[in-house]
Amino acid sequence: MPYPHLLAPLDLGHVTLKNRVLMGSMHTGLEETGDWNRVAEFYATRARGGVGLMVTGGMAPNAEGGVFPGAAGLFTPADIANHRIVTDRVHAAGGRIAMQILHAGRYAYSKDCVSASAVKSPISPFPPRELDEAGIEKQISDIVTAAARAREAGYDGVEVMGSEGYFLNQFLVAHTNHRTDRWGGSFENRMRLPVEVVRRVRAAVGADFILIYRISLIDLIPNGQTWDEVTTLARAIQSAGASILNTGIGWHEARVPTIATSVPRAAFAHLTARLRPEVSIPVITSNRINTPDVAEALLAEGAADMVSMARPFLADPDFVAKAEAGQAGRIAPCIACNQACLDHTFSGKLTSCLVNPRACHETVLRYEPTPAPKSVAVVGAGPAGLMAALVAAKRGHRVTLFDKSGSLGGQLNLARLVPGKEEFNGLVEWFASEVAASAIEVRLGVTAGVDDLRGFDEVIIATGVSPRDPGIPGQDRALSYIDVLRGAPVGPRVAVIGAGGIGFDVAEFLVAGGHSVTEHPAEWRREWGVGDPATTPGGLAEPAPDAPAREVWLLQRKAEKPGRGLGKTTGWIHRAALQMKGVKMWGGVSYLAITADGLRIARDGVEDVLAVDSVVLCAGQVPERGLADRLAEAGIAAHIIGGADVAAELDAKRAIDQGARLAAGL
Ligand code: NAP
Ligand code: SF4
Repeated sequence: MPYPHLLAPLDLGHVTLKNRVLMGSMHTGLEETGDWNRVAEFYATRARGGVGLMVTGGMAPNAEGGVFPGAAGLFTPADIANHRIVTDRVHAAGGRIAMQILHAGRYAYSKDCVSASAVKSPISPFPPRELDEAGIEKQISDIVTAAARAREAGYDGVEVMGSEGYFLNQFLVAHTNHRTDRWGGSFENRMRLPVEVVRRVRAAVGADFILIYRISLIDLIPNGQTWDEVTTLARAIQSAGASILNTGIGWHEARVPTIATSVPRAAFAHLTARLRPEVSIPVITSNRINTPDVAEALLAEGAADMVSMARPFLADPDFVAKAEAGQAGRIAPCIACNQACLDHTFSGKLTSCLVNPRACHETVLRYEPTPAPKSVAVVGAGPAGLMAALVAAKRGHRVTLFDKSGSLGGQLNLARLVPGKEEFNGLVEWFASEVAASAIEVRLGVTAGVDDLRGFDEVIIATGVSPRDPGIPGQDRALSYIDVLRGAPVGPRVAVIGAGGIGFDVAEFLVAGGHSVTEHPAEWRREWGVGDPATTPGGLAEPAPDAPAREVWLLQRKAEKPGRGLGKTTGWIHRAALQMKGVKMWGGVSYLAITADGLRIARDGVEDVLAVDSVVLCAGQVPERGLADRLAEAGIAAHIIGGADVAAELDAKRAIDQGARLAAGL
């Protein structure tokens, strides 16, 4: 059997999980649409894919505990009936599901938020109200009631959220708990609330119900928990009646990335490994685990009893089924980009997935077999063209895919060269294996012309983008980002013109000097200041980055701070990474000329020369539409997608989504 540890059952006494895979909690926004059929289909699809146990997105136990006003919860009998639709559908699909109870405390985006003490969070505008004794009792009893209702609604268990800096975590650390009563002060007092919650939830739900407690292993905030405190809490939570300990890494306000793509795979699993001998209940490890091989290795080395993966189940609901079938290479990989999941959540949009536009859209975006197969030509094997070709072929169309280069992937092949973006390798490999497994006729190294495309029923132009000509005097002395990423020699002092996604990528490439700390977890931890909670409370150490390989200026014309247009949940990481390496990020720059002396600029009306050895152009893209125009002249209708359609703000998310939607409707 492939993956003998990962696919081994887990006996919890009253119930046996069919494997060691947990789909971790994710807020999708689906519940808030009120379309419970859609919620049910989201989870049932993943249940059919074979995952051992799923945890829902966080459900508020009361109004003050909701992450935002109107956040989904389990308050009324009507709520119970809605949740019942989900649990029934999951059970009919052979799955198991636990409901996460999430009290946000001071992270609730509301003036009614509550916490241990009136200490405002740096990521919320609202100072919390300090709870009195009666207020604390109300929160406990609301959490307990939510757990009892979860049982009534048919869930197999609950997960009590005690990590990531939410309500229970706020009581645990002196950073946010300044109380002097029995809920504050000593650690025994600070941990009273989570332990009491677990004890009373267990009493309310009975012995034959899964009770997961998500414990914060490393807070990554000043004055966080020590390792002694973490293990003391773990043992107390076990004694209070938890069946499983899931693990959480870092508070949301932590200035250390914990799940982004530049975080090494399984970067925090060593902490679960250290916790495991302290308790006798199963322990789950999490964060940046996205392949069955990584998960299997962690279980085989004894780092945990179970592995939690969340976003990988957006990318591919059939993760477990494919692993079981020995088809791991066909699992659509989560590249940890956050672009369609967390970035959407934080902009109030429904979650989806860059790699799988059907995620959370299962009932509305369907790839149905076509009743009338057509011949379809797709020109361009970048993300837009690849997805269009795959979906069209899956539906039964006869697809021919052209690309003038000798390989699949288009611009993804540049992204994969950037340090910290190694996950793009997996995405290109996945596209290649899907194409190989399909009936698509692939014609690489072929520059398709008008005559090649005559006679097809449908023509899809996905020819992508080309670099914009910024028209700077002397720019023939500059390098294009494409040359640089492909290894053209670059001097020790470099100016990067353009601070969009590619400018940031190129700056990271230049300061890294060919070494990616993402591939070296211990170095990555040192660089970001991830210490050992046994020696420094909260595991926060002084960041100690290596010296940059080059001195870099990252420039833009807009007067605003560079990087504003980057991803909502990842932009700060890119900015911080470059700051650590001393990159000078300047807005409000005019480019006057590139000369033998360097780059002549004007800034705030003052002219200056940056005495750089190299200038790299990252000034955005324009659509590559030559073929589309020639087809139009020849009277051949074509669909234009991806960068060839609109280059501005193009990313792989939009390209893949557009390709999938077009092909779903052909
Ligand atoms: P971009 O985001 O549009 O940025 C282009 C940059 O060039 C801007 O800084 C712009 O700033 C500057 N610029 C525009 N016209 C110029 C001109 N005529 N002369 C000089 N500078 C000019 O494009 P990109 O960086 O090429 O990235 C393309 C797309 O790839 C992005 O939209 C992004 O979504 C995607 N991408 C995303 C990521 C990611 O991390 N998510 C990474 C890489 C790429 P000023 O106009 O102020 O000078
Ligand atoms: Fe993973 Fe990106 Fe998809 Fe989110 S959008 S699930 S991070 S691949």
